[in-house]
Amino acid sequence: MAIRNIVKNGDPVLRKKSRPVTVFDSRLHELLDDMRETLLDVDGAGLAAVQVGVLRRAVLVYTDDEMIELINPVIVETDGEQIDPEGCLSVPEVYGTVSRPYTVTVRAQDRFGKEFTITGHGLRARAFCHELDHLDGGLFTDKVLEYLE
Ligand code: ZN
Repeated sequence: MAIRNIVKNGDPVLRKKSRPVTVFDSRLHELLDDMRETLLDVDGAGLAAVQVGVLRRAVLVYTDDEMIELINPVIVETDGEQIDPEGCLSVPEVYGTVSRPYTVTVRAQDRFGKEFTITGHGLRARAFCHELDHLDGGLFTDKVLEYLE
């Protein structure tokens, strides 16, 4: 495993659309393992593959001491609303409030290609939305209601 460099805002790759993962092989597993090590190193709540320069639809969400790998994730249901501060490892030292659903259900595949569904509330739901936005070139700064000093 290795810690990878996190791409920072201004790099055009962050605005590109990631492609679906079609091969669930050791190369994907190495990417996911490196992303996990990178995310733990910087103590973040989530990381998308594009943030390490790989345009594939794979993200990690790390909340409540649980690391969740989502491959080809799709939001299938949302409920409620939360407006809270948000930040991004690719946009250092910038924080702002963003409106997100309070509850989010995602359908995804695991690292072996097996489909599953997971529901998150609060921070986990926020992280699901934030990371999935990355897969389509979105950044939380596109949605900030109010920047925090
Ligand atoms: Zn981010």
